[in-house]
Amino acid sequence: MLSSLIQKFSGRHHRKYVEKCRPIVARINEIELQYQQLTDEQLRAKTDEFKARIAQGETLTALLPEAFAAAKNAARRLCGRQVVVCDHELTWDMVHFDVQLIGGITLHEGRIAEMATGEGKTLVATLPLYLNALNGRNAQLVTVNDYLARRDSEWMGHLYNFLGITVGCIQQQMHSEVRREMYGRDITYGTASEFGFDYLRDNGMATRKEDQVQRDHFFCIVDEIDSILVDEARTPLIISGPAPIEREQPFTRLKPGVASLVNDQLRLINHLVKEASDLLEKPNLTAEEKQTAAMKMLQVKLGMPKNKLLLRLQENPEWRKLLDKTDVEMHSDFNKDELFKFKEELYFVIDEKNHQADLSEKGRMTLRPTEPDAFVMPDLANIFIDIEKDASLSPEQKDQAKREAQSQYEVVSEDIHALSQLLRAYALYERDVEYVVQDGKVVIVDENTGRIMSGRRWSDGLHQAVEAKENVNIERETRTYATVTIQNYFRMYEKLAGMTGTAETEATEFNEIYKLSVTQIPTNKPCIRIDRNDSIFKTRRDKYNAVVKQVQEAQQRGQPVLVGTVTVEQSEVLSRMLKRSGVIHTVLNAKFHQQEAEIVTRAGHRGSVTIATNMAGRGTDIKLGEGVRELGGLFVVGTERHESRRVDRQLRGRCSRQGDPGTTKFFLSLEDDLMRLFLQGNLASRIMEGAMAEGEELEHSLLNRSIESAQKKVEQQNFSIRKRLLQYDDVLNKQREVIYGIRNSALHDERPKGIIFEMIEEELASRLETAGFGEKGGATASSIESLVGWLNSHFPVSAKVDELANRKDFDALLKELVERIQKAYALKESVEDPAALGGLERYIVINAIDHHWQEHLTEMEELRRSIGLRSYGQKDPLVEYKSEGFRFFEELMNNVRLQICTSLFRSATNRDAFENLFAILSRSAQLQGPAAAPTALASATQSQSASGSTESAASGEPEVKLPTVTIRRETPKVGRNDPCPCGSGKKYKNCHGAA
Ligand code: ADP
Ligand code: MG
Repeated sequence: MLSSLIQKFSGRHHRKYVEKCRPIVARINEIELQYQQLTDEQLRAKTDEFKARIAQGETLTALLPEAFAAAKNAARRLCGRQVVVCDHELTWDMVHFDVQLIGGITLHEGRIAEMATGEGKTLVATLPLYLNALNGRNAQLVTVNDYLARRDSEWMGHLYNFLGITVGCIQQQMHSEVRREMYGRDITYGTASEFGFDYLRDNGMATRKEDQVQRDHFFCIVDEIDSILVDEARTPLIISGPAPIEREQPFTRLKPGVASLVNDQLRLINHLVKEASDLLEKPNLTAEEKQTAAMKMLQVKLGMPKNKLLLRLQENPEWRKLLDKTDVEMHSDFNKDELFKFKEELYFVIDEKNHQADLSEKGRMTLRPTEPDAFVMPDLANIFIDIEKDASLSPEQKDQAKREAQSQYEVVSEDIHALSQLLRAYALYERDVEYVVQDGKVVIVDENTGRIMSGRRWSDGLHQAVEAKENVNIERETRTYATVTIQNYFRMYEKLAGMTGTAETEATEFNEIYKLSVTQIPTNKPCIRIDRNDSIFKTRRDKYNAVVKQVQEAQQRGQPVLVGTVTVEQSEVLSRMLKRSGVIHTVLNAKFHQQEAEIVTRAGHRGSVTIATNMAGRGTDIKLGEGVRELGGLFVVGTERHESRRVDRQLRGRCSRQGDPGTTKFFLSLEDDLMRLFLQGNLASRIMEGAMAEGEELEHSLLNRSIESAQKKVEQQNFSIRKRLLQYDDVLNKQREVIYGIRNSALHDERPKGIIFEMIEEELASRLETAGFGEKGGATASSIESLVGWLNSHFPVSAKVDELANRKDFDALLKELVERIQKAYALKESVEDPAALGGLERYIVINAIDHHWQEHLTEMEELRRSIGLRSYGQKDPLVEYKSEGFRFFEELMNNVRLQICTSLFRSATNRDAFENLFAILSRSAQLQGPAAAPTALASATQSQSASGSTESAASGEPEVKLPTVTIRRETPKVGRNDPCPCGSGKKYKNCHGAA
């Protein structure tokens, strides 16, 4: 009721928007009519005129009607011309329709334009791209694959070039010089991952600004935005390399145990399910026996949710209902203890909905019969208390004992984690469904699209667990050099827009996460598609048989059919069945984009049958062949409802483009995942309880609605998972902004010495404070001594204890010390090669950042993992993650500063310079320096850091054992008005920086 009201309301809101656009559309068409009188040269001159007007302060929006008119007029002039697109010649035959103009306005305003398949979104994008490229910044368009980036940029390129605007596209294999040139053009097409990876390389890896390829994150239109921001966004982009030290792999060690445990469980489950089924088949079942059977079924469900016999038992509506009821009852708080006992009879418990697996006590004992504590987290807090209380231990021994306890804790928690990933790998990840094994590698299959996602890995050890299960080489643990989620990459754009056939169902998500509102654009011609009710069957087999029959009949009539499947496996099953029935067909599963596009073009021809996973052939629309219209157009068959309604709509949308006829129908079975998981105990199952025999078909509009509400539930669940992920990622994102900000200014500064001295000053200030200088006073002799030691081992300033003692004015002291370091540095500059100094300084900053940032990324990943385990307690893991993550970040900044201090005087542009400096400074050092502390120079000569190239000029770790100083941070390293790196969204001064 409420939802239909909202729908009506939102429908009105879309119409309102469209009405608002009408006068602008009229204006565009009016201007375009005038432009028809211009010569080609005069039209082209408009581009320069627009650019000049923008330079004089005219806004893009004010220019919209004229710019759109120019683009439309260019399209008109191209009509009838032969144009080359991806080595094929075709005739240009498009002039923007009015609805396309509206779509263009929507995009320019930074919204999502929902336009059905075949409405010509490729052409729509030319309008805002042309307009937004006029101010000299890089306008970008994101496509779902490389092939489409090339196709669309070449195709639409004819229009842009006509107007004197340059366009380029990014392809996977391109070298950076070519990439830079492509980004340098006015408009750039490319995929989300290419754009994202380029960003990471530019900001996390490039060591010279000449190596950076992107120039702007200004305006970006994401084509098929739902696919990219919702489906793809689940796996982050990661640039990684081998980790420096190889760690022992718990997976190989734990695998044999887990494999045999899984076998034990299988045996137990088979036994239980057999018992249940024997009981249920008894003629006069007592209430008690019935209950026993139900409990056994539930246990099977908890232990192996996909057990075949269990699925078959559930085909009987009565047993299914019994199981559902028991399930609900047992999960009520009331039966908590009993459920626990019940789970303990299994070796492990699988939570299919939440994708989790937990070991029971029994499982633990089976795996490690002699070590009852093997997979139990040590209670660190209590252990520490015990150590503290132990009077027999010296303080050093206590520290030692604590360190040992801590490392024991880490080993155990790593093992628990690996174990649970292995259990998941065995119980929930099925070969050829979730992944395939190719050339000795485990390759992820995208569950939505069936696409093989080569190069991507499941995070958090799951990938290694599956590798262990499949006995393939377990890839070495890698270190993350740079990472960003697709969400956060796109949130960097000043203006983001999107287009797709299906955004409405995810409108809330787009709004909440990207601040993007969805506008439905009416179709050019009314849509006359017929969506039939779903047909529901008892078993998968029945369902597939019905599909084959329908396809066969359609082919006999000559009507083309597109069969959509959810997984690659399903498309293969169907293909085999069709083959057996003599139906000629083509299978697509999104592996070869270009061929696919060509096949999809033919999918609307008379008599053709095409099986496709959701992603296959996206971006190419299906045009009807001759005589097909009379046969009712394309027939789209769905073989399973997807978790998300959007994907179903996408499939339906493949037919009835531009006013064509077309029909869609979904075939479902009670064995489908969605039906199994979410139709439990509601109205639908009650309907189905009525005698539903093998092979029988059920069809009712009520059912459609009921399935839809199940989908909505899953959608919401998935949305909150994604949102949660993003909240975690936000923490790192804020930190990345700070780090990349510093890194980038070092990259772009001719002489980044300013950054270096800022860092030095901060470090000094913090050390002076720690030593007890400043307001509170209280610098002790020993604290001053260690400060002096530190100073002299890092900078050739020859500080002395007595000149620091009794200094009251903190600021003056700080200033004086910084100046002394600056003076020393000026001396160094005088002997260095001036041309190379900038590079050297840059190297010092970047090297310090990269080294520690990469380490930090690994630590943050580990933190994520351990926080997950900690969430058993009362604390909110996200809050914990934020505050711990902030602490880590502070440490990171400390380390970076420290390394910069260490490297400054130990790096040189070449050996001569280094020796010159040594000669000059050692003279002055001998004149004033105390013998007590080693000087920076002395240690530098030991470390032999100088060499010919700046690349290897900096020394690694300090050679000198530094005096131990505990550093407490009290001064902010982040600007007080900057957003707090903890990710709270508040200003630093109001959050972690609050005094
Ligand atoms: P979408 O991405 O919206 O599904 P496409 O951009 O792939 O649609 O375009 C689908 C087809 O419609 C293409 O073959 C294109 O040539 C055609 N088309 C688009 N706009 C027009 C137009 N204004 N006039 C004629 N044909 C058009
Ligand atoms: Mg398209």
